[in-house]
Order: sequence, then C-alpha cells, then structure tokens
Amino acid sequence: MNDLSLTTLESGKATLSATAIDALGAQLRGSLLTESDAPYDEARTIWNAMIDRRPGLIVRCAGAADVVSAVRFARDNRLLVAVRGGGHNIAGSAVCDGGLMIDLSQMKSVRVDAAAQRAWVEPGATLADLDKETQAFGLAVPTGINSTTGIAGLTVGGGFGWITRKFGLTIDNLLSADVVTADGELVRASLTESPDLFWALRGGGGNFGVVTAFEFRLHKVGPEVLAGLVVHPFSDAETVLKQYREALGSAPDELTCWAVMRQAPPLPFLPAEWHGKEIVVLAMCYCGDIQAGEAATARLRAIRKPIADVVGPAPFTAWQQAFDPLLTPGARNYWKSHDFTDLSDETIQILLGAVRNLPGPECEIFVGHVGGASGRVAVDATAFPQRSSHFVMNVHARWREAASDQACIDWARGLYKATKPYAAGTAYINFMPEDETDRIEAAYGTNYQRLTEVKRRYDPLNLFRMNQNVKPKAA
Ligand SMILES: Cc1cc2nc3c(=O)[nH]c(=O)nc-3n(C[C@H](O)[C@H](O)[C@H](O)COP(=O)(O)OP(=O)(O)OC[C@H]3O[C@@H](n4cnc5c(N)ncnc54)[C@H](O)[C@@H]3O)c2cc1C
Repeated sequence: MNDLSLTTLESGKATLSATAIDALGAQLRGSLLTESDAPYDEARTIWNAMIDRRPGLIVRCAGAADVVSAVRFARDNRLLVAVRGGGHNIAGSAVCDGGLMIDLSQMKSVRVDAAAQRAWVEPGATLADLDKETQAFGLAVPTGINSTTGIAGLTVGGGFGWITRKFGLTIDNLLSADVVTADGELVRASLTESPDLFWALRGGGGNFGVVTAFEFRLHKVGPEVLAGLVVHPFSDAETVLKQYREALGSAPDELTCWAVMRQAPPLPFLPAEWHGKEIVVLAMCYCGDIQAGEAATARLRAIRKPIADVVGPAPFTAWQQAFDPLLTPGARNYWKSHDFTDLSDETIQILLGAVRNLPGPECEIFVGHVGGASGRVAVDATAFPQRSSHFVMNVHARWREAASDQACIDWARGLYKATKPYAAGTAYINFMPEDETDRIEAAYGTNYQRLTEVKRRYDPLNLFRMNQNVKPKAA
C-alpha cells in the first residue's frame, strides 16, 4: 500500500500514510480496497448510472467489528464517509468521491425465528434475500416493491410497499437495531435502549450511525397473495385515476393498489399493437384470503374496459419481484416526488399532461398509496413524518444516453413544480435526488427539530453527512 490522499469532511485533502492504512487493513476480517484492486469497481457501482464516484478507500465489511474500525478510522482522520447497503438510493449517497466508503454489501445474513416471528437481518441483505428466508416459513416484513433494493437504506428511510397498509411501514416492524455510532461505539437501539436514537433511526435516514443488524417483527403472509396488473388505454386514464381514488377510500387494509403511467413495455400478456403506447396500469395486491381478495379487488377491476387483467393468485415472493425487470440497475435515473393527502382533479390533469409528453420509453409516473396500519401510528412516534393516508407520487425519469439527461431531468422537475401547489409538503426522503438539499426540513415536517437534537447528541461532527442530511442542532 502507498500513502493516499483522501477527501476530508471539510472537502479538503489529507495524506494518510501507508503505515496507517495498512494498520486499518490488518484490523479487518473483510477487505480494504483501493482503485488498483479488482473488486473496487464492483463495490463503487450502484443502481443509478448517473452516479460515477471514486472513493479513495473502500472498507468491505465482514461484520460489526469492521464497521467499528472503519468509523473510528474515518472519525480520527476526519474523512468524508459514505455508507453502502444495497446501493439503490437515487441520490447516490452510498458512494463518495475521494473519501472512505463503508461497504456493507457482503453482510447479507438473515436469521429467522419462525416460532417467535422475528428476523435478524444484516445490512447488505436485499429485499429478495429477506423474502426468501422469511417466506420459507410463510412470514414476511413489509418492505418495498423492487426486490433488489437494500433493506438497510429502505428501513432507515421508512419503507413501504404491498403489505404496508396491513402491517405498517418497515420501521413500524423494527424492534431493535445494532448501530455503530459516530464515536465508533456499537450500541443497541430499541424502545427501551437508547430510545431517542431508535426514534431517529426509524425514518431519519443514515444520519445517526451505521446499522449492523436489524431485528424485525414478522407477519403471516401468503405463500400466495392475490396480485397482478390491470392495464388500461391512456384514453381512459382520467376516469381510471378518479375511480381508483374513490375505490381506495373504502379499501380494506389487506388491499394496496398503485397506479403507474408510462408507455407499454412489451409484456407478453399485452397485445403487440399496444407496445410503446401510453397506458395506465393499476398494480394491486391483496395479502389476505384469496377469495376475500377477489371481492375486495372487484371494484378496481370493474373500472372501464381494460386491455388486460392479469390479477390472480401468485406467490408473494414472485409478486415482490414483479417490477424488477423494469427497474434493473445500469440506467440513468432522476426522480422527483411529492406526498399528496388527496389526489385532486387538478393533480390528475397535470399528471395526464406529463404522460402526454413523456421524454422516453422508460420514463414513468408511479402513484403509490400508503395508509391503513401505517396511518394509525402517531406522527411523533417515529421520525417518519407523514402518517395520514396519502398518495406518494414518484416521477421516475429513466433513460440510457447522457445526451438525454437535460430533457429527462427537466421533465421530472417540471411535473414536480406543477404539482407542488397540491402537495402535502412532507416528502419521502428515500425518493429524493441529491440536488434536494434545501428540502430536508420541510420533508420531516414537525419531526425535524427533534432530529437535529438527536443528531447533535449522536453525531455532533456530522460524520454521517452523505445522506438526506440533518444538520446537528447548534449548541
Ligand atoms: C428501483 C427502486 C425502487 C424502490 N422502491 C421502493 C419502495 O417500493 N418502497 C420504499 O420504501 N422505497 C423504495 N425505494 C427507495 C429505497 O428505499 C431507497 O433507495 C433506499 O435508500 C435503498 O436502500 P439501499 O440500502 O439499497 O441504499 P444505499 O444506496 O446503499 O444506501 C442509501 C443510504 O442509506 C443509508 N444507509 C445504508 N445502509 C445503512 C446502514 N446500514 N445504516 C445506516 N444507514 C444506512 C446511507 O445514508 C446511504 O447513503 C426504491 C428505490 C429504487 C431504486
């Protein structure tokens, strides 16, 4: 190893001696990577191809002790730090330029206690890893809709998907977490141990430390759920969206339905003449009894005359992966998002206008619906700020060529701006791109002040700043 010049917290440079770096390497059970090592590129490559950063040093952790060594090394040398779980965050905060990257991607173990309905999960596990182990016992944790997402970043941001209305957000099922804090200590956070840290970890993002193990409560789910897509022509989109909105008003907690607008991909069940045409899709999942699901989804499936209705019994693990082929890594991506407490007629009109002007075949608008059990938790019970039943609009601009960057980003920003007057003000931090640094306080609403206080207590130096950053409250 040679001496290395690394980026500091203050964006300067510090030269670290070969001796100091070798000493760090000698402490690790995992590995220490620089750009001359073969796995370096794999470790720094993340889901969003817009992000191309080169850390000065990567600690590929094998366990909590490696995380402790990495955090202490970064703190003692005041190095810029990034923390990688599954590497999915749109903002690219898992990777830094020139600093030290703590790579947790090899820590993937999931241990299930089926009788106690508990799972212990390491931070490199993906949602697919977790589903695989829990579904072996007919159990599940509510998570997100793309199985290659990392459990770590998803959980610390909140986490919602197909069974959230029944069982709450991912964080509502978090019982405890092992955390390496900024001073390099491993602490346990739960309702009774470091409760303020536990409060902040549930929605406050990566600001408060590095989680080395999550303990989740599990629920009985599946192994089959009633799930699938109902695809409508775009000419019916206004009616579909309005009836979708009305139907959800009386939906049972078991039923979740999201609306997706985009050009039709060449899905095998869609007649070829629809491929490439604008469509509106109702994607739904009923996580209880299949027959009850047929009744509960009937109203949504009776809207107008769809091009295709492929809702039916499906293994829960398969439905959790249904969107994976459209969300593969390696494309260029830019997102904009709002929470809406209601999907107003005006908002619907703006969404439809944006779909008429899609800048590319992979660009889409997702409207997720979150509520039910997650809405029955007090706003101040966790750091996650939006507890009313609400819609989450996520504008996914997605494309392949750098030449399309501006058109796609402008489209997403334009839609965000046009719908802002109708939005709730809060936002899901896990959907925020890296340029939204001025939106964090509003995103957290009334929980922001307490977050700044917990940040001051656990990370006064703001060592963990490569995230949707909460600054420590001034003393
Ligand atoms: C295609 C796609 C679909 C998605 N769908 C959903 C969805 O349905 N529901 C949903 O809720 N979200 C969804 N998300 C958002 C997702 O929750 C975030 O991108 C999340 O940050 C991903 O976690 P990760 O571990 O993969 O991310 P990474 O990029 O590895 O990490 C993101 C940030 O999380 C923090 N972090 C990571 N690991 C740790 C740790 N061990 N301890 C503390 N902090 C840590 C760090 O600040 C890091 O910068 C989706 C994202 C994508 C790209």
